[in-house]
Amino acid sequence: MAEDARTHPPLIPGTLYIVATPIGNLEDITLRALRTLRECDIVAAEDTRHTGQLLRHYGISKPLISYFRFNEAKRSEEIIQRLSRGEKIGLVTDAGTPGISDPGERVIRAAVQAGLRVESVPGPCAFVAALTASGLPTDAFHFVGFLPHKSAARRKLLEQLLAVSGTAVLYESPYRIEKLLAELNDTFPARQVVLARELTKRFEEFLRGTPAELLAAQKGRTLKGEFVVLVGPETATRPPMVENKAE
Ligand code: SAM
Repeated sequence: MAEDARTHPPLIPGTLYIVATPIGNLEDITLRALRTLRECDIVAAEDTRHTGQLLRHYGISKPLISYFRFNEAKRSEEIIQRLSRGEKIGLVTDAGTPGISDPGERVIRAAVQAGLRVESVPGPCAFVAALTASGLPTDAFHFVGFLPHKSAARRKLLEQLLAVSGTAVLYESPYRIEKLLAELNDTFPARQVVLARELTKRFEEFLRGTPAELLAAQKGRTLKGEFVVLVGPETATRPPMVENKAE
């Protein structure tokens, strides 16, 4: 086999390619992701306008179809039919890895159940970037994603996390970060918490401390941007409170 075919095997007809895209920094895309997007027949995107811009940035022109949480069931059928006809489809979301707190899971499950080929083209994922740089234990962790919006359901889920070993990893919107810190202060007052903010972007920073310390730290400033929130296990040693602060 020629070297090129081993390192750059052609895309396989009838395959659903799950392609990770940047979470902020446009340099964070693999060579294989770019080639997959260039060589597939169509790209199924969460938001075709957003992905259209991303593809244009890399000089790729490709037909796009949209799939998102509310049309995913219907779109899954169309995607399955296209795959069954031998099309090669790249599946992307607005940022990071499809299916991780993003649509994709349903399409992927439908393809697996239909006996079709599914291939992962791995790359950026916010929680992996946050966990690995947090300084908290990475040997065991529990990914929660977004908490429910209702207070009682949030409290219940947080209390269940008390019984989970390892680092707990949550996604949170900037509008609820103060609320979440207050809830963590109620449930995990002595735990080490890390806020990983604006990962891979200009104002990336890691804020470390107990929930009360972080609440006090954010009182003087409004924390904006995207966050991954990590809660260390009971035994986690105390890292310095604030580090990697943006200028
Ligand atoms: N599929 C994505 C992934 O692979 O991480 C997650 C998508 S989810 C809709 C968006 C959430 O991920 C944000 O609210 C935030 O919690 C987290 N996130 C995404 N990008 C981030 C970034 N650059 N810095 C910090 N958190 C980020």
